[in-house]
Amino acid sequence: MDLLNVILERVIDLQRKEFGLGDVVEMKKPHPCGTNAWKVIRMGMDIRMKCTGCQHSVLLPRSRFERKMKKVLISANQAPHTEEKMDK
Ligand SMILES: [Zn+2]
Repeated sequence: MDLLNVILERVIDLQRKEFGLGDVVEMKKPHPCGTNAWKVIRMGMDIRMKCTGCQHSVLLPRSRFERKMKKVLISANQAPHTEEKMDK
């Protein structure tokens, strides 16, 4: 049951559209170049993201970015677990 709760929390987290610096995100509309993968390169009141296809960068107010974003494709925070290796 606990595991189910953990999974549900993860799903809710995904739906909350959390994102961070360095994440690669998918938007509701692809860029005219045909790529739909944007790297977040600046976080603040405005979000600057760069198209991974043509390197074009755009600046969007955070609220607009959150509305337009579909999901996080690659999370920069999900780095390999280095702690596990250090146990040995
Ligand atoms: Zn592009």
